[in-house]
Amino acid sequence: MRFEGRCVVITGATRGIGRACALAFAKEGAGLVLTYASSEKAAEEVKEECEKTGAETVFVKADVSKEEDVAKVFETAIEKFGRVDVLVNNAGITKDNILLRMKTEEFDDVIDTNLKGSFLCMRAASKIMLKKRYGRIVNLSSVVGVRGNAGQLNYSASKAGVIGMTKSLAKELAAKNITVNAVAPGMIETDMTAAMPEGAREEMKKMIPAKRIGKSEDVARAICFLAEEGSGYITGQVLCVDGGMAV
Ligand code: NAP
Repeated sequence: MRFEGRCVVITGATRGIGRACALAFAKEGAGLVLTYASSEKAAEEVKEECEKTGAETVFVKADVSKEEDVAKVFETAIEKFGRVDVLVNNAGITKDNILLRMKTEEFDDVIDTNLKGSFLCMRAASKIMLKKRYGRIVNLSSVVGVRGNAGQLNYSASKAGVIGMTKSLAKELAAKNITVNAVAPGMIETDMTAAMPEGAREEMKKMIPAKRIGKSEDVARAICFLAEEGSGYITGQVLCVDGGMAV
């Protein structure tokens, strides 16, 4: 029960990696503040699953790119739990295209959700964490933020940006007992990768030394490790969970 008495905020917890994280934290005693953008039914199902483990769970509808929505998430955490110990910046989207076909909105939407959304949540969470002099922030980057990928320049810019923000904030908060780390998943079996064309999936799979696509639970395990109290001397790091892809 590594997270007994802790309040964990996870953005985008309706499916995929966010959902797996919510269940992993719930099983280890955390109180949960989870967010969804539009999948209300899925949110209700995840809430039920988490509550089965005994975890107090609240879902907030919030677009992470909107400052007022993010404020609502952290107000809810304070009302319910009086604290925020862990933030997992998981909400993310892709809008893939090659540069010459990429619309400005496709670029802006991905940057707004993945990069600005993480910034807004880190700023709101840090304010609360600083008062308690305790915090663990885990940001979702990607192997694509480390290596780049043709057809994903907006997404790779957002995920490389997440790494930059992680390292900078880690330095700002290291002396306050607040760690900031990133997890960079490779190819993980979720709705996001299911949307890829079959040919692209097969090509990508060839690039994985482990010769298998990862599971959301593989990523959740790494996130929980960075979020636990005992990981307090690890900060500003990027942990690749990718079957060796980024090596
Ligand atoms: P996913 O299955 O597509 O789920 C995305 C989640 O984000 C959903 O809960 C969605 O909520 C939420 N969301 C989307 N836009 C949002 C917004 N504007 N505000 C708030 N929430 C929003 O994604 P995933 O594959 O689990 O990926 C999770 C994270 O890991 C992302 O940051 C992704 O970039 C990163 N990642 C994934 C992979 C992979 O292979 N899957 C690899 C590297 C990195 P609704 O359901 O309500 O829309």
